[in-house]
Amino acid sequence: MGNPVERKPHAVLIPYPAQGHINPLLGLAKLLHLRGFHITFVHTEYNYKRLLNSRGLKALDAPPDFHFETIPDGLPLTDEAVNVTQDTVSLCKSVRENFLIPFRELLARLNDSAIAGLIPPVTCLVSDFSLPFTTQAAQELALPILLFSPASARCLLSVLHFRTLSDEGLIPLKDESYLTNGYLDTKLDWIPGMKNFRLKDMPDYIRTTDPNNFMVEYLIDMTDSVLKAPATVINTSEELESEALKALSSMLPSVYPIGPFPSFLNQCPQNHLESLGSNLWKEDTECLEWLKSKEPNSVVYVNFGSITVMSPEQLLEFAWGLANSKRPFLWIIRPDLVIGGSVILSSEFVNEISDRGLIASWCPQEQVLNHPSIGGFLTHCGWNSTIESICAGVPMVCWPFFADQPTNCRDICNEWGIGIEIDTNVKRKEVEKHVNELMVGEKGKKMRQKVMQLKKKAEEYTRCGGLSYMNLDRVISEVLFKQN
Ligand code: UDP
Repeated sequence: MGNPVERKPHAVLIPYPAQGHINPLLGLAKLLHLRGFHITFVHTEYNYKRLLNSRGLKALDAPPDFHFETIPDGLPLTDEAVNVTQDTVSLCKSVRENFLIPFRELLARLNDSAIAGLIPPVTCLVSDFSLPFTTQAAQELALPILLFSPASARCLLSVLHFRTLSDEGLIPLKDESYLTNGYLDTKLDWIPGMKNFRLKDMPDYIRTTDPNNFMVEYLIDMTDSVLKAPATVINTSEELESEALKALSSMLPSVYPIGPFPSFLNQCPQNHLESLGSNLWKEDTECLEWLKSKEPNSVVYVNFGSITVMSPEQLLEFAWGLANSKRPFLWIIRPDLVIGGSVILSSEFVNEISDRGLIASWCPQEQVLNHPSIGGFLTHCGWNSTIESICAGVPMVCWPFFADQPTNCRDICNEWGIGIEIDTNVKRKEVEKHVNELMVGEKGKKMRQKVMQLKKKAEEYTRCGGLSYMNLDRVISEVLFKQN
């Protein structure tokens, strides 16, 4: 018999196993821990190994009431493969086929530990919204489940309408010509919450001619579990997405906007579980020293997140666009950013940027964005990057790549007016022009003012008594730790 444990509520949290999903769910885990929860956080074995290798997670520093568990991801693993982004389609197929059994077994093991008095019994599950198998596991054990959307409310709403688009005959596309013949400009104003949105602003999975496209099917499956889930929390706020949230509220049983997390977590006691990070790549912290040598608001920060890839030609267009802008820049080039070739930046380029450009392979993004030297962000518009930029008060130049990024880009540039979009077929002249507009132009100035207002609002919403703060309290008392 182990030591008697305090009878705390015990939440098991499981993210979809990719960087942009792990980061915010770990943020939510820390917020719940601060409110007195015992936490079990579930990684895949592959990611856990990467986290330990990158020193992103120092598991030994975890307090006894915050622990990590792993399940296999069912994908082939070779040593060489460690440290690359896993292919989304293969991962989703494996989630569907392979995750339920080990997850069930993990819950049984946790139950045994609870019976032995080692940990409190599991009282609730908090699952990424893109893991339908967790709903089944929760039903089997009669546990309350909360779904977590690491994507925006607008993205969730868009995906919930994939079926509508299919019923209306708008997707799949009739043939490839529909990608370029203006069809994607079709307006979606008739969908509540999607005013000023067009087909091209929907998550890019709709750009398919295949009636049996796996990702569309997967996402429709996912929406079935979201529609049935008793409650969904979203890493967003009423201030940012009131229309989309209103539309969602009429479709889902309960929706709680409880973000944006970067502001929420900034207001937590310093060092709260700081060593429990989630970076799958090793952080280069020297760039923070380099930033110190630069003028306030002078540096362009360039980062395309954890999944976006580009061709060697596109990389060169960005490189020369940045060099020709004559602005200082910090550019994160992930080891697997370029496909179909390797990163070759000529000595001419290296000489040209030597006094004002720094290239690194991964960085502590939130610290970088909050550094006083950063004046703008050239981003792929992942939802985390978007809200981290808002919470740091940094305007953006946008190059959306896939998934929900076109949707986020539309909100950034059109709804909030805090970004400028670069064409998919990126050209150096355009990069140079937009970067200069962002950093020193009139438009950039206006965008900076607007994003500063959004930053202030984010702080208001997440501080004690703010709407998002109170929504987290509500979700705890109404769903996670309901006292009968
Ligand atoms: N990130 C980071 N350092 C990097 C690149 C990314 O810490 O050099 C973090 C970033 O702060 C964000 C996440 O990785 O929290 C990326 O998520 P996002 O939704 O922006 O994009 P994704 O990687 O899912 O495309």
